Amino acid sequence: MTSKDNKNMLLPEGVKVTPMLKQWLEIKKKAKDAIVLFRMGDFYEIFAKDAKKVSSILGLTLTSRNKKKGKLSISMVGFPYYTLSSYILKLIENGFKIAICEQEKEQKNSKGLIDRSISRIITPGTLMGEGIEHSVDNNFLVSVYYCNNIFSISALDVSTGDFITTKSNSRDRIIEEIIKISPSEMIVFEGNLEKSFIEEFYKRNVYNKEVYIEKIKDKSFDDKILMNFNFLDPVFKKKEWLGSKVSIELILNYINKMQKNLSYYIQLPKMYSIEDYLLIDEVTRRHLSIMPTKDSINKKSFLFSIFNFCKTSIGRRLLIKYLLAPSTSIVEINMRLLIVLFFFNNSDLRYKLLQKLKEVYDINRLVSKAAHKIITPKELFQVKHSLLILPDIILILEKISNKNVKKRFNKINKHSKLKQKLVNALVELPSLNKDNKIFKKGYNKSLDFYMQQKERCEQNILKLEQSEKLKTGIKKLKIKFTRTFGYCIEISRTYLNRVPKYYIRKQTVSSGERYTFIKLSDFEAKLALLQEKILKKETELFHMLKEEISKESLSLLKTAQQLAEVDVFCTFAEISIKNNYIMPVILKKEKKLISLKQARHPVVEMSYNNNGKPFIANDIFISSLKNRVLLITGPNMAGKSTIIKQVAIIQLMAQIGCFVPAESAKISICDRIFARIGASDDIASGKSTFMVEMSETSYIVKNATEYSLVLLDEIGRGTSTFDGLSIAWAVLKHLYNHIGVRVLFATHYYELTILFNKLRNIVNFHVLIDESNEKIEFLYLFKKGSSNKSYGIYVAKLAGLPENILNSAKKVLLTLESNRKNLFLRKNEKLLKLKRKKKIKAIRILKNIISKLRKKKFKNIKRLKAVKILLKLSKKSKKIKLKYFV
Ligand code: ATP
Repeated sequence: MTSKDNKNMLLPEGVKVTPMLKQWLEIKKKAKDAIVLFRMGDFYEIFAKDAKKVSSILGLTLTSRNKKKGKLSISMVGFPYYTLSSYILKLIENGFKIAICEQEKEQKNSKGLIDRSISRIITPGTLMGEGIEHSVDNNFLVSVYYCNNIFSISALDVSTGDFITTKSNSRDRIIEEIIKISPSEMIVFEGNLEKSFIEEFYKRNVYNKEVYIEKIKDKSFDDKILMNFNFLDPVFKKKEWLGSKVSIELILNYINKMQKNLSYYIQLPKMYSIEDYLLIDEVTRRHLSIMPTKDSINKKSFLFSIFNFCKTSIGRRLLIKYLLAPSTSIVEINMRLLIVLFFFNNSDLRYKLLQKLKEVYDINRLVSKAAHKIITPKELFQVKHSLLILPDIILILEKISNKNVKKRFNKINKHSKLKQKLVNALVELPSLNKDNKIFKKGYNKSLDFYMQQKERCEQNILKLEQSEKLKTGIKKLKIKFTRTFGYCIEISRTYLNRVPKYYIRKQTVSSGERYTFIKLSDFEAKLALLQEKILKKETELFHMLKEEISKESLSLLKTAQQLAEVDVFCTFAEISIKNNYIMPVILKKEKKLISLKQARHPVVEMSYNNNGKPFIANDIFISSLKNRVLLITGPNMAGKSTIIKQVAIIQLMAQIGCFVPAESAKISICDRIFARIGASDDIASGKSTFMVEMSETSYIVKNATEYSLVLLDEIGRGTSTFDGLSIAWAVLKHLYNHIGVRVLFATHYYELTILFNKLRNIVNFHVLIDESNEKIEFLYLFKKGSSNKSYGIYVAKLAGLPENILNSAKKVLLTLESNRKNLFLRKNEKLLKLKRKKKIKAIRILKNIISKLRKKKFKNIKRLKAVKILLKLSKKSKKIKLKYFV
């Protein structure tokens, strides 16, 4: 091959293509846009353009190959094989795809060019052990497929085995779902998916982690892969689930291409319906501060920090799942609450379980690593340790007195056989033996034999040392072992004159010389051979144990799921006791009720506990029949946002099955929670503050249902007062009249409280302050009625605005307020007068009809005449607008 064959210009023109470079070129062509990590002995090398692209990212110095005089060279960087995972993570974080190219044979046994092939392609969504085990969170790969007006998605985390699939005919909802899953990679089948889908996804995903998108054009799949899965399941034959089947196929094919052999630990994905979960969109999650992001500075200001006390990684992952997707099933929520109540009342049992759970490792990740053959010996011990703890946990769970609670956990597998195999094979603690031996004596006869031989050989070397000391008379003679030069006798300069003739010089060191001799070399060769045999046997035994774990992977994943539940529910009980939460009464969604006595905001309360200040609890009642819309006014800093957020957070806590911060709580299930709070711009997607506010509001108006809960903390603030006020008024009217949703609306537009004064079910509330003294005191008490003052200038003073500015602001405020009030009152009065006039007119027509009806003697009247009279009266009645009588 010459450089002419280097068609894609992967190498610089004119470079001599050696057999090794030819092999690299072929592999690079297969790897396409992936960076090829080319194994050469103990190193991974990266060549040509790949090397230039990544050298600075990896912090490696660019060198060159073929750097002989007059010859063209190619750039390269490299690193030792055992540092692979740290470099993989760096490359992935910088958006690169990686192809790992391994040697097929041991280098020293082979002559000529060694065979090499790509063993794995790694992308952000297919990371396995490359450092992601340090993060507990899921690492999902999502696929999207669109057909028959249905968007289908599947999500697989290869590092934990979690696999799910769902569908929706709404593009918005499916995008929300993907954002909630928070994948690191997404595969889209381009065939029929509009381009705008990806654009919209990017727009809405700006606050989350970056997603690597792989576009697939070809849908020809390898059928064999799918045979592992029971696609004969009747549900997949239904038209609406066909898309899901394709999205699953997309993922499995992709993974199979990436990782040579698809692991059989991947189970059939769990199908779920989006409606089974309380939908909290990304914006709402952010406004309610539920989960911190990577960049969040104060992680303690998030709801997650209240719950983050699980003892296991598997529990923590389940907790996150619950927080992101609370249930909408009354049966499931009540079941969870029942379990939490049991653990709440049985502290001793709960304490024992939590103590034991502390010792359970991340079973999902361990199983997945075993299945992918990348589990380490240390991790085998973690599997063994977790299985050894299991019987204790099962024993405690068997003591549960409540039948229903017990039923939930009575199927945990003890994995006795697997545990026994690991116990028989592995030493107690590998760290305690100097050779890092992992297999017990007596486990395998051949291994024992080789070990014995090895020990004997080592003893013989020691004996040799003694006999050489005597022979030479050099007291300090020592047989040493070095990694590069093997066994040798080191003799210092003082004794060099005593060195016998049969010693062969090996190396000169600063203090003297190193030698060997035939007997020593013989022992060394024997030892090396034994070492090789031991390693081979250990690898074989290690591989067998990996297989044993892989075979039981599905059942181990089920056990992990149940242990995770025990961890989460015990944690719920634990925090409920610690923070004084109570069990809520859950009602059907049709009741549309939230009734809270002495409710608190869990996160603000927690920060207060740390400061020693009291949090002021309040009663809140919202229902479809009474108080459907709460219009909350009050000064700045009075606690309006806090109170509305606390209602939504309590709703969420109830639907994940946890107790809530209140003295009593009756809560009916919601389908969605929406929140638009505060002001923020979104320069990244070209939206101004007001634009963001309006986009969020429009999303709510389009998606809320009568079973939703809507929080609006100021709308229309980013524009002129009258524009803003009109928008706020119209939005509220729409939510009230057309959707009938429950709304908590915090506002400084006190005019709204006048406009809506007469409407049933819209109720004014305000947050109290005490201004009896010179200073304003925030009381944080939630009371009926409205407030018409904002005290913005007072808060500005608290924030340190200079006195002269405050004084001039006060003067302007006085004039503006009187004008604004008058204008509004005048407008409102005009409206009321007009309404009154129309009502009087309607009453007059009605009276007229009634008096006419009374005067007529219908007994003697002819049928035709009666019909005529009726027609006349009916015509008149049409002039009456019934709304004036409501
Ligand atoms: P603004 O109108 O300026 O947005 P706001 O009325 O929405 O203000 P919040 O942001 O809810 O006021 O509350 C301001 C601060 O008051 C909170 O950060 C919290 O520290 C405190 N606070 C709110 N509610 C309570 C309460 N019930 N008990 C004690 N402190 C509270």
